[in-house]
Amino acid sequence: MPLIFQKRQNMVEDKDSALDSPTAFTPYEPDADEEYMNADQRAHFRKILNGWKQALMTEVDRTMHHMQDEAANFPDPNDRASQESEFSLELRTRDRERKLLNKINESIARVDRDEYGFCDSCGAEIGIRRLEARPTATLCVDCKSLDEIRERQIAP
Ligand SMILES: [Zn+2]
Repeated sequence: MPLIFQKRQNMVEDKDSALDSPTAFTPYEPDADEEYMNADQRAHFRKILNGWKQALMTEVDRTMHHMQDEAANFPDPNDRASQESEFSLELRTRDRERKLLNKINESIARVDRDEYGFCDSCGAEIGIRRLEARPTATLCVDCKSLDEIRERQIAP
């Protein structure tokens, strides 16, 4: 396998891990009478979101440097062709990264405004476990399911 493809595969694997889930954290254990999204819980999610953001920004940096390094290294036209397809893949990944960064920033802003963790559609509590699995979630499980059913009906 040409080195460049091997490299691309490695990079994709690396990136998916940073893209799809936050970095490791200890799950929050609320007391029985604890108020939902109190200061402790908000601090917990702010930490998760900031950690994820940092990991993602490191990843974006790495991709940028990688692309700049590679651009200088392939004078052969055949290498350039495979390099270009690698770049278009990386650009798509960067686009996903940018969108995710926006979502994370928006979630952090919600924490700051004390609006984090409530469903955009019905106002219900999204829930600690669901937010830990998907820290950028803006819908509760029920509304999300409804949303997906509707999307499937609209899709051709
Ligand atoms: Zn809802």
